[in-house]
Amino acid sequence: MKNYNNRPRVLVTGGAGFLGSHLCERLLNDGHDVLCLDNFFTGTKDNIAHLLKDPNFEVMRHDVTFPLYVEVDEIYNFACPASPIHYQHDPVQTTKTSVHGAINVLGLAKRTKAKIFQASTSEVYGDPQVHPQPESYVGYVNPIGPRSCYDEGKRCAETLFFDYHRQHRLNIKVARIFNTYGPRMHPNDGRVVSNFIMQALRNEPITLFGDGTQTRSFCYVDDLVEGIVRLMNGDDNLTGPMNLGNPGEFTMIELAETIHSLIGSRSAFIYMPLPADDPKQRQPDITMAKETLEWEPGITLEEGLKKTIGYFDALLKGRANG
Ligand code: NAD
Ligand code: UDP
Repeated sequence: MKNYNNRPRVLVTGGAGFLGSHLCERLLNDGHDVLCLDNFFTGTKDNIAHLLKDPNFEVMRHDVTFPLYVEVDEIYNFACPASPIHYQHDPVQTTKTSVHGAINVLGLAKRTKAKIFQASTSEVYGDPQVHPQPESYVGYVNPIGPRSCYDEGKRCAETLFFDYHRQHRLNIKVARIFNTYGPRMHPNDGRVVSNFIMQALRNEPITLFGDGTQTRSFCYVDDLVEGIVRLMNGDDNLTGPMNLGNPGEFTMIELAETIHSLIGSRSAFIYMPLPADDPKQRQPDITMAKETLEWEPGITLEEGLKKTIGYFDALLKGRANG
């Protein structure tokens, strides 16, 4: 069933967040009727202000840990704080958001027969002992550490998605998203890209945790959204879990140096203790996405950082436009 003007009705939970807001924008451009659901814990109205004038866009304040009753054709489940300082702020709520949230949206999908997408994460691999990480790797995760509320919550959500798929024949899509960055990241979310850019723009010390040799692979948001949409619209047999991310791998020192020089900053580099359970390395094996979706990221780290720096610079000068 579609809405009155024959547009697919799509629910995006966490739609006012960084990734969710870009996804809502893309889905509107693709001709969908979009219902953005958010409790505004880390997302903001500013992220979606420019979409409010679109008659095919609607916002609902709701917490996914409570059941919801709406009529939709597709669901993208993005509700969950994603940065370590945000998800560790209220760890019990983080696990509830992943697990109760998944149960609620899966129940909704079961009743409405909607296709449902889960924003899973590279964190399901924990501190990986296999490098790069293919989807077949089952991970190396501490179940009782400070990151566990997020990692184990997301792992349990994957379990629920696959059980609903096997038990109730739900049409599911699960993507394991690797570190993604871009405009509308929260400036104070403590993630490395936003931290380094804000510090460099303010000429404040750039904070390297540990010795700065740990690695991450950074995907620009537009590339990621393209992969998400292709997975959702792909063959029904393509349930995932599927890695989506940019395989370019950088140490945190390399990232800091790149941001420093792109901005022409006067910031010094300072070293601080490495947080507990901080993964030493992370790089997606995206063979599956390349072969099944003909997808791979096209935006280089430097290009993506320039766009992101432009956003944060405007934010600091009080004229960011989302
Ligand atoms: P974000 O914090 O900007 O977005 C999360 C959104 O969910 C926010 O708008 C927040 O207010 C909302 N939210 C949180 N708890 C909620 C609840 N209980 N009910 C309703 N809304 C709630 O983070 P993001 O980077 O946009 O991440 C979005 C999703 O993608 C998350 O599920 C995250 O785990 C996943 N993900 C992101 C990355 C990344 O690098 N950005 C990587 C892997 C996975
Ligand atoms: N990091 C850092 N300085 C900062 C923030 C983060 O060196 O100011 C490091 C952090 O220790 C980790 C990497 O950057 O090794 C990525 O951290 P982020 O919180 O962005 O994401 P995640 O650890 O969840 O991949």
